[in-house]
Amino acid sequence: MKAAIFDVDGVIVDVRNSYHHAIKETVKHFTGKELSLAFIREFKFSRGINNDWDVSVELIKHLGFEPPPYEELVEYFEAVYDTLKDKEELILPPKFFAELRDAGIPLGVVTGRPKRDLSYLFDRFGLWEFFRCVIDDDEVGDKNLRKPHPFPLHLCVECLGAEGGMYIGDNNADYEMVKFYRKIYGKPMEFVHFKKVFKEHLPADFSTENPEELKEYILKNLMTHQGV
Ligand SMILES: [Mg+2]
Repeated sequence: MKAAIFDVDGVIVDVRNSYHHAIKETVKHFTGKELSLAFIREFKFSRGINNDWDVSVELIKHLGFEPPPYEELVEYFEAVYDTLKDKEELILPPKFFAELRDAGIPLGVVTGRPKRDLSYLFDRFGLWEFFRCVIDDDEVGDKNLRKPHPFPLHLCVECLGAEGGMYIGDNNADYEMVKFYRKIYGKPMEFVHFKKVFKEHLPADFSTENPEELKEYILKNLMTHQGV
Protein backbone atom coordinates (compact mmCIF):
# COMPACT_ATOMS: atom_id res chain seq x y z
CA MET A 1 0.00 0.00 0.00
CA LYS A 2 1.38 3.34 -1.05
CA ALA A 3 0.46 6.75 0.29
CA ALA A 4 0.19 10.32 -0.98
CA ILE A 5 1.80 12.65 1.53
CA PHE A 6 1.38 16.42 1.20
CA ASP A 7 3.35 19.49 2.13
CA VAL A 8 1.09 22.31 3.37
CA ASP A 9 2.54 25.74 2.60
CA GLY A 10 2.61 26.44 -1.13
CA VAL A 11 0.80 23.17 -1.86
CA ILE A 12 -2.44 23.03 0.12
CA VAL A 13 -2.47 26.72 1.02
CA ASP A 14 -1.04 29.92 -0.43
CA VAL A 15 1.14 31.62 2.21
CA ARG A 16 2.41 34.51 0.14
CA ASN A 17 0.27 36.92 2.15
CA SER A 18 0.91 35.33 5.55
CA TYR A 19 4.23 33.64 6.35
CA HIS A 20 6.26 35.56 3.80
CA HIS A 21 4.94 38.87 5.13
CA ALA A 22 5.61 37.71 8.69
CA ILE A 23 9.27 37.09 7.76
CA LYS A 24 9.46 40.58 6.25
CA GLU A 25 7.95 42.25 9.32
CA THR A 26 10.09 40.25 11.73
CA VAL A 27 13.30 41.15 9.92
CA LYS A 28 12.23 44.79 9.79
CA HIS A 29 11.46 44.82 13.52
CA PHE A 30 14.87 43.45 14.51
CA THR A 31 17.02 45.30 11.93
CA GLY A 32 15.09 48.38 10.77
CA LYS A 33 15.69 47.15 7.20
CA GLU A 34 12.96 46.51 4.68
CA LEU A 35 13.39 43.58 2.29
CA SER A 36 11.24 42.83 -0.73
CA LEU A 37 9.07 39.70 -0.67
CA ALA A 38 10.76 38.60 -3.90
CA PHE A 39 14.17 38.75 -2.19
CA ILE A 40 12.84 36.87 0.86
CA ARG A 41 11.41 34.07 -1.32
CA GLU A 42 14.57 33.79 -3.39
CA PHE A 43 16.67 33.64 -0.18
CA LYS A 44 14.42 31.01 1.42
CA PHE A 45 14.04 28.76 -1.63
CA SER A 46 17.62 28.98 -2.93
CA ARG A 47 18.99 28.01 0.48
CA GLY A 48 16.35 25.35 1.09
CA ILE A 49 15.50 26.70 4.55
CA ASN A 50 12.13 25.24 5.39
CA ASN A 51 11.31 26.82 8.74
CA ASP A 52 10.31 30.48 8.45
CA TRP A 53 11.59 31.35 11.93
CA ASP A 54 14.98 30.10 10.73
CA VAL A 55 14.65 32.08 7.50
CA SER A 56 14.11 35.22 9.63
CA VAL A 57 17.22 34.47 11.73
CA GLU A 58 19.35 33.88 8.63
CA LEU A 59 18.11 37.08 6.97
CA ILE A 60 18.93 39.11 10.10
CA LYS A 61 22.47 37.66 10.03
CA HIS A 62 22.67 38.22 6.27
CA LEU A 63 21.98 41.92 6.87
CA GLY A 64 24.88 42.03 9.34
CA PHE A 65 22.84 42.11 12.56
CA GLU A 66 22.99 39.94 15.66
CA PRO A 67 19.74 37.93 15.83
CA PRO A 68 17.68 38.26 19.05
CA PRO A 69 17.21 35.24 21.34
CA TYR A 70 15.29 32.61 19.33
CA GLU A 71 12.26 32.58 21.66
CA GLU A 72 11.92 36.34 21.35
CA LEU A 73 12.00 36.14 17.56
CA VAL A 74 9.45 33.31 17.48
CA GLU A 75 7.11 35.26 19.77
CA TYR A 76 7.28 38.35 17.56
CA PHE A 77 6.92 36.34 14.35
CA GLU A 78 3.87 34.44 15.60
CA ALA A 79 2.19 37.67 16.81
CA VAL A 80 2.58 39.11 13.29
CA TYR A 81 1.46 35.83 11.71
CA ASP A 82 -1.71 35.85 13.84
CA THR A 83 -2.75 39.13 12.22
CA LEU A 84 -2.19 37.69 8.72
CA LYS A 85 -3.35 34.07 8.92
CA ASP A 86 -6.88 34.77 7.74
CA LYS A 87 -5.44 35.97 4.43
CA GLU A 88 -4.40 32.42 3.57
CA GLU A 89 -6.34 30.87 0.72
CA LEU A 90 -6.66 27.21 -0.21
CA ILE A 91 -4.91 26.06 -3.37
CA LEU A 92 -6.24 22.50 -3.15
CA PRO A 93 -9.87 22.38 -1.97
CA PRO A 94 -11.47 19.74 0.32
CA LYS A 95 -13.09 18.15 -2.76
CA PHE A 96 -9.62 17.36 -4.15
CA PHE A 97 -8.72 15.36 -1.05
CA ALA A 98 -12.17 13.77 -0.76
CA GLU A 99 -11.77 12.23 -4.22
CA LEU A 100 -8.37 10.76 -3.39
CA ARG A 101 -9.52 9.45 -0.03
CA ASP A 102 -12.66 7.95 -1.53
CA ALA A 103 -10.48 6.16 -4.09
CA GLY A 104 -8.86 4.36 -1.15
CA ILE A 105 -5.52 6.18 -1.19
CA PRO A 106 -4.04 6.75 2.28
CA LEU A 107 -3.34 10.47 2.71
CA GLY A 108 -0.85 12.11 5.05
CA VAL A 109 0.72 15.49 5.76
CA VAL A 110 4.30 16.43 6.59
CA THR A 111 4.69 20.13 7.34
CA GLY A 112 7.18 22.44 8.99
CA ARG A 113 4.29 24.35 10.57
CA PRO A 114 4.07 24.42 14.34
CA LYS A 115 0.97 22.63 15.64
CA ARG A 116 -0.95 25.79 16.56
CA ASP A 117 -0.63 27.25 13.04
CA LEU A 118 -1.51 23.94 11.40
CA SER A 119 -4.52 23.39 13.65
CA TYR A 120 -5.86 26.85 12.93
CA LEU A 121 -5.66 26.25 9.19
CA PHE A 122 -7.11 22.72 9.26
CA ASP A 123 -9.95 23.76 11.59
CA ARG A 124 -10.72 26.80 9.43
CA PHE A 125 -11.04 24.82 6.20
CA GLY A 126 -12.26 21.49 7.62
CA LEU A 127 -9.28 19.47 6.40
CA TRP A 128 -8.68 17.01 9.26
CA GLU A 129 -11.03 14.30 8.02
CA PHE A 130 -8.98 13.60 4.89
CA PHE A 131 -5.62 12.78 6.46
CA ARG A 132 -4.92 9.67 8.49
CA CYS A 133 -1.56 10.97 9.73
CA VAL A 134 -0.42 14.55 10.16
CA ILE A 135 3.17 15.29 11.15
CA ASP A 136 3.85 18.88 12.15
CA ASP A 137 6.97 20.47 13.58
CA ASP A 138 5.91 19.80 17.18
CA GLU A 139 5.56 16.07 16.45
CA VAL A 140 9.18 16.03 15.31
CA GLY A 141 10.50 17.79 18.41
CA ASP A 142 14.25 17.88 17.80
CA LYS A 143 15.12 20.94 15.69
CA ASN A 144 17.85 18.97 13.90
CA LEU A 145 15.31 16.43 12.65
CA ARG A 146 13.05 18.92 10.90
CA LYS A 147 12.56 18.96 7.13
CA PRO A 148 14.74 18.66 5.02
CA HIS A 149 15.80 15.84 7.39
CA PRO A 150 13.74 12.81 6.29
CA PHE A 151 12.67 11.84 9.83
CA PRO A 152 9.24 13.58 9.64
CA LEU A 153 8.50 11.79 6.36
CA HIS A 154 9.54 8.49 7.95
CA LEU A 155 7.21 9.15 10.89
CA CYS A 156 4.33 9.76 8.50
CA VAL A 157 4.99 6.69 6.32
CA GLU A 158 5.19 4.45 9.39
CA CYS A 159 2.08 6.05 10.92
CA LEU A 160 0.19 5.30 7.69
CA GLY A 161 1.58 1.75 7.59
CA ALA A 162 2.58 2.42 3.97
CA GLU A 163 5.27 0.93 1.73
CA GLY A 164 6.41 4.34 0.58
CA GLY A 165 4.51 6.39 -1.99
CA MET A 166 4.88 9.98 -3.06
CA TYR A 167 5.51 13.34 -1.43
CA ILE A 168 3.92 16.40 -2.99
CA GLY A 169 5.93 19.54 -2.26
CA ASP A 170 6.72 22.95 -3.70
CA ASN A 171 10.34 23.74 -2.93
CA ASN A 172 13.90 22.57 -2.60
CA ALA A 173 13.61 21.52 1.05
CA ASP A 174 10.83 19.11 0.03
CA TYR A 175 12.95 17.62 -2.74
CA GLU A 176 15.94 17.25 -0.39
CA MET A 177 13.80 15.52 2.24
CA VAL A 178 12.62 12.93 -0.31
CA LYS A 179 16.16 12.41 -1.61
CA PHE A 180 17.49 11.79 1.92
CA TYR A 181 14.49 9.58 2.73
CA ARG A 182 15.31 7.26 -0.16
CA LYS A 183 18.91 6.98 1.04
CA ILE A 184 18.25 6.50 4.74
CA TYR A 185 14.94 4.67 4.92
CA GLY A 186 15.06 2.89 1.57
CA LYS A 187 11.34 2.73 0.83
CA PRO A 188 10.25 3.89 -2.63
CA MET A 189 9.28 7.55 -2.51
CA GLU A 190 8.56 9.76 -5.49
CA PHE A 191 8.94 13.51 -5.38
CA VAL A 192 6.05 15.30 -7.03
CA HIS A 193 6.63 18.98 -7.61
CA PHE A 194 3.44 21.03 -7.43
CA LYS A 195 4.37 24.46 -8.71
CA LYS A 196 1.07 26.30 -8.81
CA VAL A 197 2.47 29.23 -6.82
CA PHE A 198 6.21 29.22 -7.57
CA LYS A 199 7.56 28.11 -10.90
CA GLU A 200 11.18 27.31 -9.95
CA HIS A 201 12.78 24.26 -11.53
CA LEU A 202 13.38 21.20 -9.35
CA PRO A 203 14.34 17.62 -10.19
CA ALA A 204 11.10 15.69 -9.78
CA ASP A 205 9.45 12.42 -10.81
CA PHE A 206 6.47 14.47 -11.88
CA SER A 207 5.87 18.17 -12.07
CA THR A 208 2.71 20.19 -12.67
CA GLU A 209 1.06 23.46 -11.80
CA ASN A 210 -2.41 22.10 -12.53
CA PRO A 211 -4.45 20.63 -9.61
CA GLU A 212 -6.47 18.42 -11.95
CA GLU A 213 -3.29 16.93 -13.47
CA LEU A 214 -1.89 16.42 -10.00
CA LYS A 215 -5.00 14.51 -8.94
CA GLU A 216 -4.94 12.36 -12.09
CA TYR A 217 -1.27 11.51 -11.54
CA ILE A 218 -1.86 10.44 -7.93
CA LEU A 219 -4.93 8.39 -8.85
CA LYS A 220 -3.22 6.73 -11.81
CA ASN A 221 -0.10 5.77 -9.90
CA LEU A 222 -1.38 4.91 -6.47
CA MET A 223 -4.63 3.21 -7.36
CA THR A 224 -2.72 0.87 -9.69
CA HIS A 225 -0.38 -0.07 -6.87
CA GLN A 226 -3.31 -0.64 -4.57
CA GLY A 227 -4.98 -2.86 -7.16
CA VAL A 228 -8.23 -0.98 -6.67
MG1 LIG B 1 6.02 24.20 1.05
